[in-house]
Amino acid sequence: MSLPPPLVPPPRILMGPGPSEIQPRVLAALSCPTVGHLDPYYLELMNHMQQLLRRTFRTENQLTFAVSGTGSAGMECAVVNLVEPGDSVLVCVCGVFGQRMADVAARAGGKVTQIEKPWGQVFTPDDLAPALRRASPKVVGLILAETSTGAWQPLEEIARLVRDAGALLVVDAVTALGGIPVEVDAWGLDVVYAGSQKCLSCPPGLAPITFSPRAVDHVQQRRTPVQSWYLDVRLLSQYWGSDRVYHHTAPINMTYALYEALRLIDEEGLEACFARHALHHRALRAGLEALGLTYLSDPRHTLPMLNAVAVPPGVDEAAVRRELLSRFGIEIGGGLGAYKGRAWRIGLMGHGARSNNVLLLLAALDQLLAHEGHSFERGAAVAAANRVYELSN
Ligand SMILES: *Cc1c(COP(=O)(O)O)cnc(C)c1O
Repeated sequence: MSLPPPLVPPPRILMGPGPSEIQPRVLAALSCPTVGHLDPYYLELMNHMQQLLRRTFRTENQLTFAVSGTGSAGMECAVVNLVEPGDSVLVCVCGVFGQRMADVAARAGGKVTQIEKPWGQVFTPDDLAPALRRASPKVVGLILAETSTGAWQPLEEIARLVRDAGALLVVDAVTALGGIPVEVDAWGLDVVYAGSQKCLSCPPGLAPITFSPRAVDHVQQRRTPVQSWYLDVRLLSQYWGSDRVYHHTAPINMTYALYEALRLIDEEGLEACFARHALHHRALRAGLEALGLTYLSDPRHTLPMLNAVAVPPGVDEAAVRRELLSRFGIEIGGGLGAYKGRAWRIGLMGHGARSNNVLLLLAALDQLLAHEGHSFERGAAVAAANRVYELSN
C-alpha cells in the first residue's frame, strides 16, 4: 500500500468569515516546545493570558479565561452555565448565529422565546422592551457581530434595558473581539464569549470567555448541576483559579498561539486595531461599490470585519469563489441560510485587514466579474480603494 500524501497545505489568503489569516508570530508560537499543563511555566502563562484577555474584553471580571474549543464551545459554555431547565430565555435572532444560540438554549432545557428581525438588520431597545415584559426572561442572548449578515448590533442601551428587567445578558462577540469595541464592564455585559480565529489572527480552537460577578452568583446558586461536565465553570474555575485542580488537559500550544495573538493586539493597541479594521473596510467598501456591488446589512450598522454583499443578477456565485481560490489563492465566503447562493461574505479580520489583501481582492474581482458579463467601469475599484488610502495618509 502506498503512503498517504505528505502534508502540503496550499498558501491561501483567508478573506472569508473565518478562519482568518494567522500572524506569522502566532504560527511560530504554535511550534514552541510543549510543556505540561501543570508545569509552573504554563501556570504562570495562564495568569498572563487572563490579564491579556481582561484587557481585550475591557473587564475586571475575575472569571475570564479561554474555553478549550471553538467559538461554539464558548456559546455553549455561556448558555449551559446560566440556563437551568425551565428557565425563561429570550434570544434575538436576525441571522444564523442568533438561531444557533436559541437552539443551544433549548437543548439546555430553557423555555426559549425568540424575537426576530429581517436579516441584515439589528435590534433596537424598542424591539426588546415588549418581549422583556412578556417573557420576563432570566437570560437574554444577543449577537454583537452577526457574521452571517455583516450587521453590527449596538449594545449599550439594550444592556441597560436588560439589566433593568433583572435579566442576565449573554453576548456573542466571536467575530467582534479585536475588531470593534467590546466594552464588557462599561456596558455591564454579563457573559461574553469570542473565538480565536476571527479578529484575533489565531487558528481556531480556543474561545475566550468572561463572566461578571453577577453571572458567577447565578451559577453558584443553581439548583441543578450544569448538564455539561466539560463546560461547567464551577469546575473550570478551580483550574483557572489559584487551586489549579486538574480538569482536562489544556491545549498547550493553542494557548501559546492565543497568548502571542493577544500580545500582538496589545502591542498595536486596541484602539489602533479598531481603526485599522475601519480603514480597510472603508477602502474595500469604496472598491466593492465601484464594482456595482451592494451591501446586504443596514448601512447604519455595517461591520468593518465582515462585508456581506449581494451577488449581482446573472453572476455565478460559486464560480467566482472557485476562481478566486484557484487563480488568486483568495478565499471568501458564500451566503448562509437565507443568504445561501445570494451573497458573498468578505472578511477583513485581524492580520487579514491589510491594504495588500484589499487591493488584490478588488483587482481579482474586477477580472472575474468582467468575465461573468457584469457591467461596471474596469479599474475603478482599485482606484477607489487607493483614494481612501491616500486620503487617510
Ligand atoms: C464563527 C462564529 C461562531 C462559531 O464559532 P466556531 O469557532 O465556528 O465554533 C459563533 N458566533 C459567531 C457570531 C461567529 O461568527
